Amino acid sequence: MTDIHGDAIEQAWGGVVATARRTAADGLVVGTSGNVSARVGDIVLVTPSGVPYDRLGPDDAVGVDLEGRQVLGDLAPTSELPLHLAVYRCTGAAAVVHTHAVHATAVSTLVTEVPLIHYAAAMLGGPVRTAPYARYGTKELADGMLAALRDRTGCLLRNHGTVTHGSTLDEAYDRTAQLEWMCRLWLTASSVPGHRPALLTPAQLRDVQDALKGYGQPG
Ligand code: 13P
Ligand code: ZN
Repeated sequence: MTDIHGDAIEQAWGGVVATARRTAADGLVVGTSGNVSARVGDIVLVTPSGVPYDRLGPDDAVGVDLEGRQVLGDLAPTSELPLHLAVYRCTGAAAVVHTHAVHATAVSTLVTEVPLIHYAAAMLGGPVRTAPYARYGTKELADGMLAALRDRTGCLLRNHGTVTHGSTLDEAYDRTAQLEWMCRLWLTASSVPGHRPALLTPAQLRDVQDALKGYGQPG
C-alpha cells in the first residue's frame, strides 16, 4: 500500500474487517455469509468472497474502483460487488453492510414492506421495503435493491437478507442492528395468537423523523 491514500486505506481496511467480524460475533451472519465494504475516495474496500472473517489480516485488503476493477489485493472480491458498487454510485454512502440476519430474513419472506411496528423505522428513512428475489451476486438483485433503497438507508432482500449503508461503518452496522431488532419485534408481536400488533401511522412516523433531527447530544 504505497499510494498517497495508504494510511487511509489501511485504516479503512481495519474497519471493514472489524465490522465483518462483528456481524459474525453478534449472530447477524453465520460462516462466510454477508459482506462489508467502505469507500475511500475512488477506491472501495470489500471483504473477499468466501473467506472466514477471523482469517483476514492487514495484508489481505481487497480494493476495487467504482467500475469493479480490482486495484488492490489478490483475493477475489465479494460476489455481491454489484450490490455494493450500486450503492456507492447512487448515494453518498461511505460504508455498506450486507447480512443474513435471521429475523430480518424471515420477515423478507412475509412482507413487501416492514410494518410500522416501531419508530426505529425513522432511523432508516421510513418504512423499510423488501427488494424482489434475484440470485445472489446478480445485477438484477442490485437493481431491485437500489429501487427498494430509494430515500432509505436500509432494505430487505427477499429470501436473502439485509442491506444498509451509512456515512461510516459504525453507522451502517448500527442500522443493520436496528433493522434486525425491529423485524424481531414485529415477528414477536405478530405471533401472539388472537392478537394483531398496533402499528404507527405514516404521519406518526414523519413526526418522529422531525423529532429525531434534534435527537442525542447537541453539537
Ligand atoms: P461472499 O462470500 O461472496 O461475500 O458472499 C456472501 C453473501 O452473502 C452473498 O450474498
Ligand atoms: Zn448474502
